[in-house]
Amino acid sequence: MRVHNFCAGPAALPQAVLSEAQHDLLSWKGRGLSVMEMSHRGADFISIAEQAEQDLRELLDVPAHYKVLFLQGGASLQFAQIPMNLLRQRRKIDLVHTGMWSGKALQEARKYAEVNVVASDEAHGFRTVPAFDTWRVSEDAAYLHYTPNETIHGVEFNYIPEHTAPLVADFSSSLLSEPLQVSRFGLIYAGAQKNIGPAGLTLVIVREDLIGEVLPGTPTMLDYKVAASHGSMYNTPPTYSWYLAGLVFKWIKHQGGLAAMAQLNLEKSRRLYATIEKSGGFYHNPVSPSYRSRMNVPFTIQDTQLESVFLRDAEAAGLVNLAGHRSVGGMRASLYNAVGLDAVDALVDFMHDFQKRMG
Ligand SMILES: *Cc1c(COP(=O)(O)O)cnc(C)c1O
Repeated sequence: MRVHNFCAGPAALPQAVLSEAQHDLLSWKGRGLSVMEMSHRGADFISIAEQAEQDLRELLDVPAHYKVLFLQGGASLQFAQIPMNLLRQRRKIDLVHTGMWSGKALQEARKYAEVNVVASDEAHGFRTVPAFDTWRVSEDAAYLHYTPNETIHGVEFNYIPEHTAPLVADFSSSLLSEPLQVSRFGLIYAGAQKNIGPAGLTLVIVREDLIGEVLPGTPTMLDYKVAASHGSMYNTPPTYSWYLAGLVFKWIKHQGGLAAMAQLNLEKSRRLYATIEKSGGFYHNPVSPSYRSRMNVPFTIQDTQLESVFLRDAEAAGLVNLAGHRSVGGMRASLYNAVGLDAVDALVDFMHDFQKRMG
């Protein structure tokens, strides 16, 4: 029996995807070998890779003048790779600081550029997105970086900011959770292990005209143009992760695409936030209501002594990986695409029952 897995990442994958991978594990489509054992230059893997890209392009309606790159190194490498590629003669970056991940992007970018923090909610412990009309943007930034969904603090933008410079967004924990207007962005990136597939793969979607001029000393492997002109196969790509991500793209299409995902994700998060709100203070989420994440729901228990009991009893009930990030503590339920309404209902039932027993 499978548990309800609320892990923030690596996260739950759709069972149908795992079953298909299992079916094809020893012998993909009767070829007598697994995808892991194929040459990345062979016709079979090329067809897997191209189909995955095509399905992703369809899901997100990616315009033709954007490159889709299948890379490695996680979102964390992008914190450096983006300035290396997108600074292009400029020295300054604008960045919005809304949680731990944008903080990490900020620290890394400072190695390459002057970073202008246009707004930060750090002083209040990252509970909101600072009002757009208070942002202090610069005239000469190469781009504006922000984190649409802060996975640890559970803070999510409910709009796409406007800026004269290209927008760069870390969508690691929310890509494919709803339809997205890709043309609003210069670059979108995401580590796969939250909402896309297994770890080891990083997606970058970048406007073609922004690439091709890297900082001196940039490794060949970190030049987007090199990746783009080699179909993300300048060296051996993470073939199995790419294949599994492709199965996830197909699965999302079968579910009705991103509009269907969005509806479901909204309903899942609504049910969980409603449970927290109606608990009379027993459970608590600190984020201002308009910026509560649909993907990652952190919460605490009024009597913090009960939190370890909660986590232990939840696990015994088949609800796993509910501990908050080590930096903030408490609990966190991640509700990515592969986490069904049934999992959320099981969690909500458990929370009601737990409060009744302990409250
Ligand atoms: C998980 C996460 C990261 C880090 O991803 P890695 O792939 O582990 O480097 C960065 N940003 C956000 C928003 C994340 O959720």
